[in-house]
Amino acid sequence: SAAVEAVRGLTPGPEGDEVQLICHVNPDGDALGSMLGFALGLRRAGFTRVRATFPGTFELPTPYEKLPGLDLLVPQPAAYERPAMVMTFDVAAESRLGALASLLSAPCVVVLDHHASNTRFGRINLVDPHAAATSVVVDELLARLGVPLDAEIAECLYVALATDTGSFKFDMTTPAVHELAARLIATGIRPGEISRRVFDTRPFGAMKLAGEVLGRAVLDPAAAGGHGMVWTYATLDDLARHHQRPYVLDSLIDPIRSVAEADVAVVVKQSAEDEWAVSLRSKGAVDVSAVAVALGGGGHRLAAGFTGHGAVGDVVAKVRPLLDDHLT
Ligand code: 5GP
Ligand code: MN
Ligand code: MN
Repeated sequence: SAAVEAVRGLTPGPEGDEVQLICHVNPDGDALGSMLGFALGLRRAGFTRVRATFPGTFELPTPYEKLPGLDLLVPQPAAYERPAMVMTFDVAAESRLGALASLLSAPCVVVLDHHASNTRFGRINLVDPHAAATSVVVDELLARLGVPLDAEIAECLYVALATDTGSFKFDMTTPAVHELAARLIATGIRPGEISRRVFDTRPFGAMKLAGEVLGRAVLDPAAAGGHGMVWTYATLDDLARHHQRPYVLDSLIDPIRSVAEADVAVVVKQSAEDEWAVSLRSKGAVDVSAVAVALGGGGHRLAAGFTGHGAVGDVVAKVRPLLDDHLT
């Protein structure tokens, strides 16, 4: 494929070509895991000048603080200025690259992703909307490059796969997903240990904060053509009172989406004075990716997001009618 040719065309070694890897702002397990897994793979293949980074606040969520390959991760200002190649991971659109979008002027840009809404902003776009995670695309490219999986690469790809499939629960969990998981585990990684590190390291304060945020959830049974919507919100003040970092709010969509009476789940998370990161989930009645795209965001049919402005109530009021417009 074009991506294999492009990587093979690079000069490896300490004097070789610079390769800059980037994942999306507020990185999740798939963004970091697929990026660092590929970074380690490039290093195994002899590429010495490989750096990984992401835009925005350079803070790793605690669940990902022990990922292999973190030594290749640099804060944004330390990214290569004129890399021969830029590769993006789990990035659906340029807007998800923040200030790092300027790096897209590199001679070669390769996009690795699995969002149906991907805008194909690269010169080469490896976008598989049927892949459960970007790490599936990474595994395929590593295989085609002849880079074998080792335990470090496997741990990165496993974290990516486990987080994006909701621990192998979501619709995209195909036989191929379990086959990939099997190959990853066969390298000697320990799924139990990894899962405890990723899922069971919530600070006590975050649990108390979750209690408040879940406690104010609202059920709207008439929304989404009667399929129901449940929503809640969290403010910067909530985070400050509990001394928590914003990433701890990202997992709250899971208990919210577990509500039987609602097909659609919405969590509105304040990110600045007048800015909200909105998470949307559907159990199948609504294409929330279409809803998110209509509001300037993106994602997948059953999991999507966008950035909202105004008061919380206004943000939710914008979402509600769009649910009826995008019933599946
Ligand atoms: P989450 O709710 O977990 O932040 O995001 C769910 C899905 O929607 C992810 O696949 C994520 O990439 C996508 N997504 C979330 N927020 C945005 C956004 O502001 N813009 C775009 N294009 N996609 C988003
Ligand atoms: Mn992601
Ligand atoms: Mn992903």
